[in-house]
Amino acid sequence: MDAKHYDIVIVGAGLVGSSLVRALAQQDLRIALIEAHSSQTQSQSARADDRALALSVSSQRYFQAIGLWSELIPHASPIHHVHISNRGRFGFARLPKEELGHPALGYVIGATPLSQIVQHSFSGQSNLDVYQPATLTKVQTHAKQVQLQLQTDSGAFNIHSRLLVMADGGHSRDLLPLAVETHDFGQAALICNVDVNQEHHGKAYERFTDNGPLALLPLKGRRYAVVWTLDSQTLSDYLALDDSAFLQALQQQFGWRAGQFTRAAPRSSWLLRQEYMPSPGTGRILCVGNAAHKMHPVAGQGLNLGLRDIAVLAELLTDTNLTMPSLVQQYLRQRLPVQQRLLKRTTLLVNSFSNTQAGMGLLRNLGLLALDHTPPLKTWTMRYLTGLEDSHSRLLRGLALNA
Ligand SMILES: Cc1cc2nc3c(=O)[nH]c(=O)nc-3n(C[C@H](O)[C@H](O)[C@H](O)COP(=O)(O)OP(=O)(O)OC[C@H]3O[C@@H](n4cnc5c(N)ncnc54)[C@H](O)[C@@H]3O)c2cc1C
Repeated sequence: MDAKHYDIVIVGAGLVGSSLVRALAQQDLRIALIEAHSSQTQSQSARADDRALALSVSSQRYFQAIGLWSELIPHASPIHHVHISNRGRFGFARLPKEELGHPALGYVIGATPLSQIVQHSFSGQSNLDVYQPATLTKVQTHAKQVQLQLQTDSGAFNIHSRLLVMADGGHSRDLLPLAVETHDFGQAALICNVDVNQEHHGKAYERFTDNGPLALLPLKGRRYAVVWTLDSQTLSDYLALDDSAFLQALQQQFGWRAGQFTRAAPRSSWLLRQEYMPSPGTGRILCVGNAAHKMHPVAGQGLNLGLRDIAVLAELLTDTNLTMPSLVQQYLRQRLPVQQRLLKRTTLLVNSFSNTQAGMGLLRNLGLLALDHTPPLKTWTMRYLTGLEDSHSRLLRGLALNA
């Protein structure tokens, strides 16, 4: 059998790969999607993913542009206000949506419904072949194409493509000629949904506690998603507590601003490690999403940045004047400085809010007070966190690619 030829092969049907496939549905491009897990195991692991993700305004617009927002909105809770504070200190900053003039600062949505809706959205897409379960096992680059070896239950075979987009979450980096830098924060995230005894009115909290940054994201009803960054010892202590002792520890560290925590759903944990490609592309190969930059979740930016990246990539792919190697270079020129800035700022945030040295508490306080009392700084911070500072492409303005 002759090897099939594609314009684009996307490896990985996670949130980033799937969202890119869907964005390219109407394009005159022959696309293949490769996913290692069967759709059944993928939906089982999606069900086991109890995280809530904060979608920025730019991500909401992306999903609107690719026609999925009306399906997502019943699962999403708007964030109307963000409150940032430092436990045991007087400083805090308030970021209300009114100061940005948007209906919401972002939306909180379960990773499970989000994945399921995006992954179901391209079934029957006419320009797409899906290989699943199939694993990419070898990449060979030639002048005019890349040759890819796929392994399936019935054996190995090759396909060819003008462009390879790796959205594999960084799980198959040994196949690529691209360097990666890693940084272990020595931290993990404790994830848990909790009920409270009062309405939250769409208020999200970021509180810097003695044990690490603690985020409360508003869910539907009187519920919050807790994302608590902890060192490994504190994490295992908290995982070992029974529900009522855990709620007490959470209440003691967070305080009473959100009301009384009354019930905790099962807790889970995620190891936090930064993985970053100084140059996530070469020749006809591009890495996107976690494959290019796996970030600390303190500012909830990993997926949001990945969606902004693929919005730019999708727009470049509609430009028929660009040949493949120059398209990769153009993408890197546009996206690398943005990715590097966000990674630096996230690392600075993690380091400054995990630092227990004398004087740091005071500095953090002054920083929060300055943010709260300096309107231009506040507006800029809000535009940055909502992705609006980086939303020039069509999809990020909520517009279809060729409308
Ligand atoms: C605790 C926590 C909280 C977070 N909160 C937020 C948040 O609030 N907001 C936000 O924007 N981001 C958040 N993030 C980040 C976000 O979850 C990730 O950035 C995003 O899910 C990455 O998706 P991806 O598609 O790039 O990778 P993945 O989800 O890892 O998908 C990769 C896919 O590739 C497949 N694959 C791998 N190798 C191969 C191969 N060789 N062949 C075929 N298939 C392959 C895998 O099976 C998988 O399906 C958070 C992360 C964590 C850990």
